Amino acid sequence: MNFATKVLHGTSCFDPITGASSVPIYQASTFHQADLDQPGTFDYARSGNPTRAALEEAIAGLEGGERGFAFASGMAAISSVFMLFSAGDHVVVAEDVYGGTFRFLTRVLSRMGISVTFVDASQTEAVRTAITPTTKGIYLETPSNPTLKVTDIAAVCRIAKQHDLLVIVDNTFMTPYYQRPLELGADVVIHSATKFIGGHSDVVAGLAVTRDAALGEQLYFIQNGMGAILGVQDCWLVMRGLKTLKARLDVSTNTAEQLANWLSAHPEITSVYYTGLTEHPGHQVQASQSSGHGAVLSFDVGSRERAKALFDRVKLPIVAVSLGAVETILSYPVTMSHAAMPAEERAARGITDGLIRLSAGLEDVNDLIEDLKQALENLPPLQKIEEEKEAFSRA
Ligand SMILES: *Cc1c(COP(=O)(O)O)cnc(C)c1O
Repeated sequence: MNFATKVLHGTSCFDPITGASSVPIYQASTFHQADLDQPGTFDYARSGNPTRAALEEAIAGLEGGERGFAFASGMAAISSVFMLFSAGDHVVVAEDVYGGTFRFLTRVLSRMGISVTFVDASQTEAVRTAITPTTKGIYLETPSNPTLKVTDIAAVCRIAKQHDLLVIVDNTFMTPYYQRPLELGADVVIHSATKFIGGHSDVVAGLAVTRDAALGEQLYFIQNGMGAILGVQDCWLVMRGLKTLKARLDVSTNTAEQLANWLSAHPEITSVYYTGLTEHPGHQVQASQSSGHGAVLSFDVGSRERAKALFDRVKLPIVAVSLGAVETILSYPVTMSHAAMPAEERAARGITDGLIRLSAGLEDVNDLIEDLKQALENLPPLQKIEEEKEAFSRA
């Protein structure tokens, strides 16, 4: 079955008991046990609930894995998956992971005796070099945020196999529609379902899928043991979002492609990051491992003053943290997602003061272009700002 069909007619598309066209919200914390000797499928809702089970089965099916899990947020999914490791273990991590993941690894997990090394995972050899005798896993996010660096998932998985390491991939930006890391050799896939899968900026949720049943059993033990489960109302909202994932991404990705091309040709823009552009360094790898380039792009207007001017003038996009929604979202990494990072670290990752991230929504692309056009019209000239800065530093 193709993705568009599978997302609607896979498991859990309707209630097997009543035939209801959407899986009911089983607002129950516990389940009557009719026979003490023969426990039913569900006993207590932290351990399992039919609404959550439907979502978990759906995401496992779409990612091509054995077991799916729904968590209270993307970070709950990520932190729970890291509990697969033990004190003394070492994990190699892509350097430009989501800010919350960076914070969890460096400020929380480090206290539990699990160490990490950050590497530029777009350089496969850098991953190999970072492996030590205590390394137990590799954690990737591709394309990365906000400069959309691409990691060759299959190449990293081959290295991981040689060293018996778990490969975990945060697939939030791509979703299973465009990229299925388990098919490329990864062991666990994670999503912030708050983004494209939920898709409407109205729910915070996380998902994880394991490739095999044994690892699934381990992660189930952690999910039940730690308890960071997704509530049933939110499970329902995520399933509702999932049904239109392909239709939304088709439109948003097409818009992102058009915007990336338009911005590339605009004289006020100093650079555009989008894997769909042939000049993007990750273009080839992305095209070989994913069926699309997604709805997120970043562009540089050259300075903070010019970025501020653009944010002040745009009328259509909402200016916010987050991405992957029906409305176009503009964000400013320097003060939003990467605010906690020292300026030099940001600069080393290409997160400059003029960088703006755009997540394309479902608006008419021509209206978005018109809006960006007027917002870019009277920006303070680049040249002048540089001259002023020089004058300022001389004074
Ligand atoms: C938002 C995000 C997360 C964190 O998810 P939450 O649902 O906000 O906890 C993790 N990874 C990526 C790539 C994200 O964009």
